[in-house]
Amino acid sequence: MNDFVLGVDLDGVCADYEEGFRRFVATELNRSPEDLPPITHWGYDEWGLNDDDFIELHSKAVTQHMHRHLPIIEGCTDALWRLSDAGIWIRVITHRLYTNWSHEAVVSDTVAWLDQHKIPYRDLCFLGAKPQIEADLYIDDAPHNIKGLSEAGNEVIVFDQLYNRELPHRRASSWEEVEELVTELAAKKVGIQTQIPGIDAGAERLSRKKSN
Ligand SMILES: [Mg+2]
Repeated sequence: MNDFVLGVDLDGVCADYEEGFRRFVATELNRSPEDLPPITHWGYDEWGLNDDDFIELHSKAVTQHMHRHLPIIEGCTDALWRLSDAGIWIRVITHRLYTNWSHEAVVSDTVAWLDQHKIPYRDLCFLGAKPQIEADLYIDDAPHNIKGLSEAGNEVIVFDQLYNRELPHRRASSWEEVEELVTELAAKKVGIQTQIPGIDAGAERLSRKKSN
């Protein structure tokens, strides 16, 4: 069987960057998290941050290991295990290296986070500006990445967020919907069949195996 490679973005798809950043900004600027509303377009001007403020706060958050403590988006691990079990090649793709001088923290915190949440993956790619890296299908939340991927002729699923609602592409608003769409597209391309959702997803299998 040919491998079907699923390119999975991290922030805004697997990891709840916005919530993690909200917590950091609230502490750092001594503001209430309730004063930092869900963002409805790309960027953080709705929190009163211009691009320079964002870069400064983001860089500081990274050096304080924010990536290690980001909440996970519900259903992500189990869905990825089922897809992986079905033979889909999980390629984690992240664009986190866009600030200078903190690459060690970014890379080590990313790997630690993936382990902590038992996310299955066969490749881990840290990309710069280029949005694509030879996957059959991508899932992403960032409008500029989605446009770039799509314009280069790639299949992409938009992971629904308030700030990407204007994009016309195929969309999933939960990991269950991601799983359904990926299964459907992979079945068309390479004849893959997944486990039924809700049956043992296997996220705990490594710890079970270790304790046997
Ligand atoms: Mg993202």
